[in-house]
Amino acid sequence: MSTTMIERIRATPVTVPLQAPLRHSNGAHWGRFVRTLVEVETSDGYVGLGEFGGGGEAATQGTESLIEYLRGHDVFRLESLRFAICNPTASLYNNRTQVHAAIEFACLDIIGQKLGVSVSEFLGGRVRDEVEFASYLFFRYPDPVTGEGEVRTAEQLVAQARALKASHGFRTHKLKGGVFAPRYELSCYQALAAGLPQDRLRYDPNCALSLGDAIEFGRAIEPLNNDYYEDPVWGMPQLSRLRDFVRIPTATNTVVVNFEQLAANVAQRAVDVILLDTTFWGGIRPCIKAAGVCETFGLGVAVHSSGELGVQLATMLHMGAVVPNLGYAADAHYHHLTDDVIVGGKMRYVDGRIAVPDAPGLGVKLDPEKVRRYHELYRELGGYPYDRDPGRPGWYPLVPNERWADPADGARPALR
Ligand SMILES: [Mg+2]
Repeated sequence: MSTTMIERIRATPVTVPLQAPLRHSNGAHWGRFVRTLVEVETSDGYVGLGEFGGGGEAATQGTESLIEYLRGHDVFRLESLRFAICNPTASLYNNRTQVHAAIEFACLDIIGQKLGVSVSEFLGGRVRDEVEFASYLFFRYPDPVTGEGEVRTAEQLVAQARALKASHGFRTHKLKGGVFAPRYELSCYQALAAGLPQDRLRYDPNCALSLGDAIEFGRAIEPLNNDYYEDPVWGMPQLSRLRDFVRIPTATNTVVVNFEQLAANVAQRAVDVILLDTTFWGGIRPCIKAAGVCETFGLGVAVHSSGELGVQLATMLHMGAVVPNLGYAADAHYHHLTDDVIVGGKMRYVDGRIAVPDAPGLGVKLDPEKVRRYHELYRELGGYPYDRDPGRPGWYPLVPNERWADPADGARPALR
C-alpha cells in the first residue's frame, strides 16, 4: 500500500475564448470553450490535474462530491478506481465516465510525479516523441466584435487551411461539416483538395447526412486524398450499409465509444477507424486498451478531440505517444483557442506536430493567474447552448438533417 491517498478533489470551471465561433451540425461553440479543471490532492502533498468538457454548478458539485467515494483511495489503484465510481452496472443509473476520466488523468499525473517519469513512459513507453495533428477546419461565424475569422465560402475555407498550414505545418485537414447542404459542402471539400493537392483530407458532418446524400458525397470524393469518411450517417446499421456503396474507410467518434460497441463493431464491421477520446472512453488507459483490441482485429485508430485545453491535450499526447497503431494525424480544436491555462501558454505546433511533454506525470502545470482570469470569465459569461445556433434562434436540426444553414447569409450573430 502506498501512502499516496486521495484527500481532496477540486473542480474549477473556466471559459477560454476562441478566435471565432465554430459551427457544427447541431449548433456552434459560441466563441469560447467552457471546461472544468480538476485537481486531485493526496495525503502526501501531490496535486494531479484533470479536465473535462462543459462546466457549471452541477459539474463542479458532482465532481467534488466524489471525495465521499474516493477519500483514502490509493492513486496507484486505477482498476479499483474504475469499480469504485464507474461500475458498469451501477453506471446505468449514474454515468460518471467523463469524471472518471478526469480523475484517472489526475491519478496518472500524481503517479508520474511520484516516480519521476512521464505518463507515456510508464503506460507502455513511447513509440514516438511527438504526435502529428490535422488542421481541423470549421465553418466559423465572424467574431462579433472584430468581424474577423469568418469561414463560410470555399475561398475562405481554403484560405483558412493555407494559413494554418503556413503557421503550424499541417499536412492533413479535417473539415467539420453538417452546417450547409451536402452539395455546397462537397464543393468546399473539393476546393480544399484542389487548393492543397499534396495534403490529406477528412470530412466529418457529425452524422447529419441521409444515406442517399452520404453515398453521393462519398462517391464524389473517392478520387481525393481521403484519410476516412467520419460519421457521415447516424448509427452502425447505416454506416455498415454505406460501405456497400462508397470505397473510403469510415471512422466514428459517435457510435463506437465504449467496449460494448467496439465488440459489436468487431462482430459485424460497420466502421474501419475508431477515434479514441481520452474523456469519452473514461481515461487514457481505456483508450490504450481499446487500441489493443483495434490492433488485434485490424481496425484503425486515431485521436479524437472533444475540445481541449492544455491538460486534456497532454492526455491526448501521452495516449498518442504509446499507441503503436496510430495510423492517422490526431484531431485537436486547440489551435482555435486564443490562450491556455497551463504554465508557458499554448503548446506549439512544429511541422504539424506537438512534442509529448517530458516532465514527470502529464508534464503540464496550471498557471494560477490564467485559471483565475478564465474562471472569472466563466462567472461573467456562464455556459452556452452547444446544441443551438446563435445565428438561427429557435432552429434545431433533424437527423438526417434537412434544415441547412444558408451559405449566402453572412450574419454576425451576438453571442451572449
Ligand atoms: Mg467526429
